[in-house]
Amino acid sequence: MKQSQLFTKTRKEVPADESAKNAQLLIRAGFISKEFAGVYSMLPLGLRVLNNIKNIVAEEMERLGSQEIIMSTLQNKEVWEMTDRWDDEKADIWFKSKLKNGTDVGFGWSHEEPITNMMRAHIASYHDLPRYVHQFQNKLRNETRAKSGIMRCREFIMKDMYSYCIDEAEHMDFYNKAIEAYLNIYRKVGLGDLTYVTSASGGVFTDKFSHEFQTICEAGEDIIYVHKDGTVAINEEIFNEETLQNLGKKKEDFEAKKAAEVGNIFTFGTGKCEQMDFFFTDKEGNKKPVFLGSYGIGVTRLMGVIAEIFSDDKGLVWSRAVAPFAVHLVELGSVEDTTVRAEAQKLYDELLTEGIEVLWDDRDLRAGEKFADSDLIGIPTRIVVSSKTLASGTFEVKDRATGEVSMVSRAELSSMLKN
Ligand code: ATP
Ligand code: MG
Repeated sequence: MKQSQLFTKTRKEVPADESAKNAQLLIRAGFISKEFAGVYSMLPLGLRVLNNIKNIVAEEMERLGSQEIIMSTLQNKEVWEMTDRWDDEKADIWFKSKLKNGTDVGFGWSHEEPITNMMRAHIASYHDLPRYVHQFQNKLRNETRAKSGIMRCREFIMKDMYSYCIDEAEHMDFYNKAIEAYLNIYRKVGLGDLTYVTSASGGVFTDKFSHEFQTICEAGEDIIYVHKDGTVAINEEIFNEETLQNLGKKKEDFEAKKAAEVGNIFTFGTGKCEQMDFFFTDKEGNKKPVFLGSYGIGVTRLMGVIAEIFSDDKGLVWSRAVAPFAVHLVELGSVEDTTVRAEAQKLYDELLTEGIEVLWDDRDLRAGEKFADSDLIGIPTRIVVSSKTLASGTFEVKDRATGEVSMVSRAELSSMLKN
């Protein structure tokens, strides 16, 4: 894409009404637009990052055998009344409204009940199980505090998946596979070393423990205790004698760290399906409640955490896996030297043919401004084409993460970008 055509502008000043680093940088670089506290729109660059993250998540969900759907945002009160969760004061984040005829409707903050209600029509016997479904859906939550930028929004994209199994054994088998799939996702987006499977309370969903995926991050709102061997992490909410005994660990072997919850998975068991009259016929012809699990990833929050962690004083530092473009092609001095434009065009066309996504800064601006924008936007590889590089027969390549600059030939450039 030519940068002269990109409608978004970068800005030097930090937005006065934004205290979170992720939102400050994403707004300054033109990735997101703030509508009001906790509510953000995705601009072209931001949407490209979000879609890259979504694709990584989608691939892992499909590998688990899950099928993608999209449920509605407007929800039926009666469905939530089946499980006494319409007026549940623990779920005080509902946005609610009324139809013209007075009927109550809810704006989906979660989808266990509507999805489970929908699945009832499609599952009748053990032949129909197990089944897994997921969606990428805008959740609306009336959050009390929204000061963490896109890490805590009043409207955000969640990937939620639900598993329907015949019994606990079948469920646990899938649950463990889901843990592996989640860890693959965090590894692929570059957060593998910082993300821990963390034992946590069941929250509003269940009385038992759940597992959170917590990424060590100063801007996170949670405290987790990480064991010195790195294999066990416990949310502070349940960091007590009982939990430690359960896990066979000693208190003094843990260290407290700030973290952001980037995912959360729950074993519901059969309770909700019993409440919702969701039964299947087993092999012996007996009626049994379906065994339910639920698996969330905050896609928007994940993008915010990546922006928090992978950034420096100059701006964002995207990894290849999630970057809006692989290459930032910066042409310099094309007004004085018309061969520069022709060379930039040639390289742009060739890279596109090689399947490499390029943002081409073809704007008539000073080098300093172009470089500052390039650092702020944070595309992993910057390539400069100028009369100087033309004269040397090489391209100047800068790695955004390390700052390393090298002069490379056209052939070297291609092999560099393939890796
Ligand atoms: P939190 O404890 O942070 O309030 P939660 O436990 O209510 O989150 P879940 O209902 O389990 O969250 O949602 C699944 C995932 O969605 C979370 O793990 C988190 O990554 C993300 N998420 C939850 N609330 C928000 C929000 N307000 N803004 C952005 N992402 C969110
Ligand atoms: Mg949670």
